[in-house]
Amino acid sequence: MGTDRARKLIAAADRIVVLSGAGISTDSGIPDFRGPDGLWTKNPDAQRMSNLREYQRDPALRAQTWQARLVHPAWTAEPNAAHLALTRLEHAGRLAAIVTQNIDRLHQRAGSRRVIELHGTIFDTVCLSCADVRPMREALDRVAAGDADPPCPRCGGILKSATVSFGQALDRAVLDEARAVVESAELLMAVGSSLTVQPAAGLVGLAAQAGAAVVVCNASATPYDGVAEVVVRGPLSSVLPDLLG
Ligand code: NAD
Repeated sequence: MGTDRARKLIAAADRIVVLSGAGISTDSGIPDFRGPDGLWTKNPDAQRMSNLREYQRDPALRAQTWQARLVHPAWTAEPNAAHLALTRLEHAGRLAAIVTQNIDRLHQRAGSRRVIELHGTIFDTVCLSCADVRPMREALDRVAAGDADPPCPRCGGILKSATVSFGQALDRAVLDEARAVVESAELLMAVGSSLTVQPAAGLVGLAAQAGAAVVVCNASATPYDGVAEVVVRGPLSSVLPDLLG
């Protein structure tokens, strides 16, 4: 029922914008934060790794985080059928952009070109003192060689993945670009996100205010289900190919 209505809305829209979250990548083997098998659901301590202040003040936590980065599933994960369905929609000229909260680059690996990374990427590091950006690989090689907490090669400052941690502001220009693209959407599809992280989740309300129809595709309930014309439950790697063809 919801699926039929969603298909009709999708077929009628020429300018679709997708807001994606960690749930689109779980079928590629990258756990989300808040789903039943989520990193935070299983290990509440993992939250501290994503908190900027804790990361800055606790060298032991940084060492633990570097060990986790060393074996992060993003290095070996492959895009799944949900990422590929979105790439086909873009090639068909009907997807204006993907605004993603993900840091795993799987949309780009699937061939999507217009991807706005709201929360940065784990494929780079950034220095918290001098803002120097480098490939993550360089830091991971130093960790693998025995450096528990590799400092910035330029200024000696603390290095972190180039992702937005809790307590850290989003890049202003990136957020403005996301807002503009969302405001121009005919249809906003929010896929695989608990829609609990602001300001990303607020983009759903912004799209609705600007007149877009909203479709939420997520395994569990979100605070924006009431704004949506249709909510579709179920695993995205079958839901999106089914809805988008
Ligand atoms: P979240 O963990 O808060 O929510 C994920 C949602 O996806 C949950 O509601 C869950 O029920 C749903 N879900 C999980 N697997 C699904 C599937 N196969 N099909 C349909 N739904 C599924 O994630 P979020 O809303 O993206 O926000 C959390 C933050 O986590 C973001 O800032 C993001 O940067 C970060 N994060 C990113 C990754 C990644 O890049 N893959 C992974 C973990 C966390």
